[in-house]
Amino acid sequence: MALEVDILGVAKIIAIANQKGGTGKTTTALNLGVYLAIMGKKVLLVDIDPQGNATQGLGIKPENLATHVYHALMGKVSGADIKRSSGIFGYDLLPAAADLAGATVELVDLPEREFKLKSLLESFVDEYDYILIDCPPSLGLLTINGFVAANEILVPVQCEFFSIQGLNQLMGTISLMKDNLGTDINILGALITLYDKRSATHRNIAKDLRRNFDGRVFDTIIPRNSALASAPAKGQTIFQTDPESQGAAAYKQLAEEIVRIHGGIENPIVSTEEIEGTIDTD
Ligand code: ADP
Ligand code: MG
Repeated sequence: MALEVDILGVAKIIAIANQKGGTGKTTTALNLGVYLAIMGKKVLLVDIDPQGNATQGLGIKPENLATHVYHALMGKVSGADIKRSSGIFGYDLLPAAADLAGATVELVDLPEREFKLKSLLESFVDEYDYILIDCPPSLGLLTINGFVAANEILVPVQCEFFSIQGLNQLMGTISLMKDNLGTDINILGALITLYDKRSATHRNIAKDLRRNFDGRVFDTIIPRNSALASAPAKGQTIFQTDPESQGAAAYKQLAEEIVRIHGGIENPIVSTEEIEGTIDTD
């Protein structure tokens, strides 16, 4: 039984990525993370975007950080040295600031340059249930580090004309990485964000997405909701600023959908008879 508990306790590492900016990556990382923590999961949010938006969204000013993800990736400090609490129980952060941008240049000449984040996160996998990586809007070396470190990728997409093309490009990168770096990552799902159900274009593209990526688009859809856009300016998540909003309800649904997906596929060593009656909400 101890062995089973150990295995179930290893963090699921999810990279939240899309090479396009403004698709809701950071909003998803922040609010999915907090609701997983509300569900009793231990969550570590890892900001690997030099813009530091996820860091700011949790009320931390990137410009005041003496050390952050950049210094840990370069081996100048440990992961524990840069870890911060979000102020919410069970929800921690590895913050980032502008000089992380330098890492893309400095890493190029280092051996194992794609594996730096994976090594950094190794010390955290036993401590957390979920590690969420908020990737920058590119398919550069930082995002590649995110993919190598992750088991799964969550792709926020807007219902726009080029979204399907962008998703195909992303899948191509992932399959190249499997071939060249021997990584083993799966698409957890594409998440429709910034959705306006009154827009015929949005409705049609959502249908096309489901047709093209059958079974890989989350049931949950994140609506365009002004409460989601205004929360980060207060350094708080939607569950603190506006827990009754449609945006909060959508991220709650997403967190529950993800926990359900993992519950369904990640208990291979425990038979249904064994878990029956022992797990209720998960
Ligand atoms: P990314 O990290 O992919 O660049 P963000 O999460 O920062 O995207 O979102 C881009 C902008 O859109 C931000 O100003 C954010 O507050 C806003 N935003 C994101 N999701 C929503 C939503 N569902 N409804 C309204 N505004 C949103
Ligand atoms: Mg972002």
